[in-house]
Amino acid sequence: MKLAGVRAQGEKRSPLSPETVKKFRQLGFEVAIEPGLGKDAGIPDAAFEEAGATVTTDAASGADVVLSAGPLEGEALSKLGRGTRLVGMLDPYDAKDRVHAYASAGIDAFAMELLPRITRAQSMDVLSSQANLAGYKAVIDAAANYGRAFPMMMTAAGTVPPAKVFVMGAGVAGLQAIATARRLGAVVSATDVRAAAGEQVESLGGTFIFVKEAMEEGEGTGGYAKELTPEQQKAQQELVTEHLKKMDVVITTALIPGRPAPKLITDDMLKGMKPGSVIVDLATPRGGNVDGEADGVTILRPKNILDGLAGEASNLLAKNFLSFVTLITDKEEKQIKVDPEDEIIKGVQLTRDGEIVHERFKGEG
Ligand code: NAD
Repeated sequence: MKLAGVRAQGEKRSPLSPETVKKFRQLGFEVAIEPGLGKDAGIPDAAFEEAGATVTTDAASGADVVLSAGPLEGEALSKLGRGTRLVGMLDPYDAKDRVHAYASAGIDAFAMELLPRITRAQSMDVLSSQANLAGYKAVIDAAANYGRAFPMMMTAAGTVPPAKVFVMGAGVAGLQAIATARRLGAVVSATDVRAAAGEQVESLGGTFIFVKEAMEEGEGTGGYAKELTPEQQKAQQELVTEHLKKMDVVITTALIPGRPAPKLITDDMLKGMKPGSVIVDLATPRGGNVDGEADGVTILRPKNILDGLAGEASNLLAKNFLSFVTLITDKEEKQIKVDPEDEIIKGVQLTRDGEIVHERFKGEG
């Protein structure tokens, strides 16, 4: 069996780490990587070679499984032979052409961001591993751009008040942002539309702020949020507008799977914020939670916040991919075996034998 790690365009993360190369070899794979696979993540080719990988420009050639941190298109995709299983963060939403391209190239593509949130899949959960790091990094970036201190400091010359941090969306990224802001000494509040988030926010020392009207119907399928009605949205905005006026730092993380990010902060709401305040909009890749600009308010809209944490992000991603490939590997018979009836496979498999098989993308195009 052969497994390859390839670079995706504009992607700094590596889908393999030297540690996972070793593990894949123990599973019975030969491993090949493209030169410079880990360069932007601080992993030199030599470290992969030491772990037992071959470094070659045609790494994907003849591979049973190809790993990629991001979607593959054009020339990068053309290097994969028919029947290759492509595993990665393939970003299938709003990318019909890409899903079709996988099908017509005869590639069996597995988009790891579609993983069902079940216990058995936890070790493969790329969204969680990456969101955790993103939540941490958002607070670090906010602190670096905030012209004042986070913790309360009592000095002989007087007291520095703690920064007030507000986290909108208390999922994986939001909870990590709360924990990080608390460690830096900030006073933290947070909001979400899922009632279950309240307890988690409080257990991390944050104050939970919620709109009852939005909460009652906010719980969607599989623990995810669904879109609010216009009335719920209005109630949420009224509450948040007042709260925002007192905040120094805001981290927004709200997402709804497969939908554009909900708009949580509008132009008018921004205008009421304190001069010198900082917002980090982590939902930027999915359209953003923050609309507009305001004088004196710094808004950071990182397209890929994990670029600044590529080493850690790669290590976690690589482990997520290892867990998934282990699921589709028959170690005894030394071959790839994909069970199309497995709930995890059903969740992530986009294409099989030249067809789009994923329920969500089937009818499109
Ligand atoms: P996400 O990235 O999809 O969204 C981030 C947060 O934004 C969510 O908490 C969501 O409720 C919130 N949000 C959406 N619309 C909002 C709005 N209008 N206003 C305020 N907040 C809004 O979520 P996630 O981080 O992937 O986590 C979603 C859920 O899945 C959580 O309950 C999490 O605990 C759960 N989860 C389960 C597993 C597992 O069981 N294996 C793994 C990871 C996450």
